[in-house]
Amino acid sequence: MVILLKENAEAKKLQKLMEMLEAKNVSVKMTEGQHQTILGLVGDTTEIDIEQLHALDIVEDVKRIQEPYKRANRKFHPLDTVIKVGDVAIGGGNFTLIAGPCSVESSEQLCTVARGVKEAGAHLLRGGAFKPRTSPYAFQGLRGEGIKLLLEAKAETGLPIVTEIMDLSQLPLFSEVDVIQVGARNMQNFELLKELGHTKKPILLKRGLSSTLQEFVMSAEYIMSGGNPNVILCERGIRTFETATRNTLDLSAVPMLKQMTHLPVVVDPSHATGLAKLVAPMSYAAAACGADGLMIEVHNDPQHALCDGSQSLTPEAYAQVVKGVMAIRECTASIE
Ligand code: PEP
Ligand code: MN
Repeated sequence: MVILLKENAEAKKLQKLMEMLEAKNVSVKMTEGQHQTILGLVGDTTEIDIEQLHALDIVEDVKRIQEPYKRANRKFHPLDTVIKVGDVAIGGGNFTLIAGPCSVESSEQLCTVARGVKEAGAHLLRGGAFKPRTSPYAFQGLRGEGIKLLLEAKAETGLPIVTEIMDLSQLPLFSEVDVIQVGARNMQNFELLKELGHTKKPILLKRGLSSTLQEFVMSAEYIMSGGNPNVILCERGIRTFETATRNTLDLSAVPMLKQMTHLPVVVDPSHATGLAKLVAPMSYAAAACGADGLMIEVHNDPQHALCDGSQSLTPEAYAQVVKGVMAIRECTASIE
């Protein structure tokens, strides 16, 4: 971090600033020019509040040289993080297939889909029990009952389960859930992230609807700084001016995030496009650009789904996508 001081900065105030910086355990190197003085900060500056520095009347400008995230940063952790969920390894060259309905609707629906996606090669079963819906009149999910059904489907198929938490108060219901999902709308629910940082559960963190990659990684940092290193990032499309698709799938986020962080990055082409027809091509593209996995919505009867039917694949169509993805993985295996 570099601090540029105003001309003729008052010595007393400068002394106070130096003491404040030294208390943060960074060393300060002062370079005095004819008109301007620059303070170069060396050490871990993640805990220094840049806004606070900007507010000081002796400070002209502050520039962060290092990223504000440390635990998620690939610079300090060059190897890929591999997250174990039962026998499934996520990240580090593995390709993880997460699939299931948008919402858990009934035992029959969930078990039919779970069997179908397992047969197609899925490693984890997804299904929403608590649903973040735009309309309060839309199906809100089966809540605790939905989690019970997911656990039953897990007992039948052996597939570990992924489901979304929307509020801290729901956490006790998640004790047997294998991967806790934080949805796009809660990516910056910092109290929730902090609390999830105190668990050891793998967290699938979805990118916020209009979040930058740095904001996304900072949310992962919230979970990690609480002591939970098991974060999986999920690119699920962002809001743009385009209306032909539900969101715009930002595939450049995949190689970018993998450069910024050591965490696994999966892609959700279902919410990214909102269109079942686009799920296959976007899945292939995600596999080709280095994603660590895919989360895809699958329904046994998409036309009658209680949520997101238009972006859901049938188990048969999902099986075809998995085949295509595996073929792409083989083609790209030899490209560095
Ligand atoms: C979901 O995966 O069910 C979901 C609601 O996704 P998102 O948070 O990405 O909208
Ligand atoms: Mn959905």
